[in-house]
Amino acid sequence: MTVKTGDTGTFGASASSSTWSWHPHLPLSGVPYWDWPPRPLAVVKWLVAYFVRPTDRLLCLLFALVIGFWLQPVTEAQAVLSADWMLRVFLRNALALAIVAGGLHLWFHTFRCQGSDFEFDSPDPGRRRGSRFFLGHQTWDNIFWTMVYAAPVATAWEVLARVMYARGVFVQIDFAAHPVWFVLLFPLLTLCQSAHFFVIHRALHWKPLYRWVHAVHHRNISPTSWSGLSMHPVEHLLYFSTMAFFFVLPSHPVHMLFLFFFQLLAAPSGHSGFEAVSIAGRRVLSLDAFFHHLHHRYFECNYGSGEFPLDRWLGVRHDGTDEATGTLRARRRTPHQA
Ligand SMILES: [Zn+2]
Ligand SMILES: [Zn+2]
Repeated sequence: MTVKTGDTGTFGASASSSTWSWHPHLPLSGVPYWDWPPRPLAVVKWLVAYFVRPTDRLLCLLFALVIGFWLQPVTEAQAVLSADWMLRVFLRNALALAIVAGGLHLWFHTFRCQGSDFEFDSPDPGRRRGSRFFLGHQTWDNIFWTMVYAAPVATAWEVLARVMYARGVFVQIDFAAHPVWFVLLFPLLTLCQSAHFFVIHRALHWKPLYRWVHAVHHRNISPTSWSGLSMHPVEHLLYFSTMAFFFVLPSHPVHMLFLFFFQLLAAPSGHSGFEAVSIAGRRVLSLDAFFHHLHHRYFECNYGSGEFPLDRWLGVRHDGTDEATGTLRARRRTPHQA
């Protein structure tokens, strides 16, 4: 599950943790939206870095612009459900998942093209085998849940959104008439997605729901890109329900597609187990995956993405340091304080 984080070590003070093969600067720093007194310049600087530096998030934005304006725009014909256009949307999503999740898996794990550069865990193939996995291996298990469930459920949400735009139920705006709202809606969407993700994810850790639904995702203690959307279909249904934002937010289909790809494709990249794609030791594409990787290792922390800091406000944020791990373990020993 996604989960691009607003929490990044990029600007943090340097500390170290002995439990990782590689980690970003620690403690992970927060997002300046929430600083008090307000620091508007820091917010602008952070937003520029967030959307302009080379990241998987930027690629999702470019992909949304190309699909939404050129390759597969919303058309009036999509007011009516038809196998023709719905199948093309499904095939595009399935193909995009296969290329992104499959490509990153081959790059990082199969051929180990960048070795251990920016890798959080030391390589241990044994962690990714076992009877808990379908066909006894994490990769086959993850491919199964992703291609059999994630691709169709995600497509169903996109189809719903396209029908709503085509029928005029979603209020559609354009850049010329509303330039400020058009631009600001992109960061507003990632902020809303962050809050939404925390809420559904925290609910999925309620024991009955965890056992029935979320345990599928947490089979992956050391996730790879195929793990990002390796979830029970009920979780897919909740995860992509962010498409319902557009019932109340006037938008253009490229906003919907940006949020959609941000969840569909940045979930695989954000579970790669690496902080960045690198060539010859140089970072070429940041994935900002550490905050959620901490959740896969320690479970009872970092339910959100950090951009909307509900983890911090509720005392369950893990900033990556050994001290935070100690605090978490102490909380487990005294559950009445949790
Ligand atoms: Zn996850
Ligand atoms: Zn979880």
